[in-house]
Amino acid sequence: MGEYEFECRVCKKIFTLFMRVGERAKASIRCPGCGGEDVEPLMQAFVARTARKS
Ligand SMILES: [Zn+2]
Repeated sequence: MGEYEFECRVCKKIFTLFMRVGERAKASIRCPGCGGEDVEPLMQAFVARTARKS
């Protein structure tokens, strides 16, 4: 299980989902705030933090 952060492009709500690696691309992710599917993964920030350590 992994923790993934998403930002809704509609209402700008940032939310976290727990799901298996590889499941993120398949699942239809909906914003818990407005129910919209236009959400953007915030994995870029996580990758940047990891890269800074090495
Ligand atoms: Zn939303």
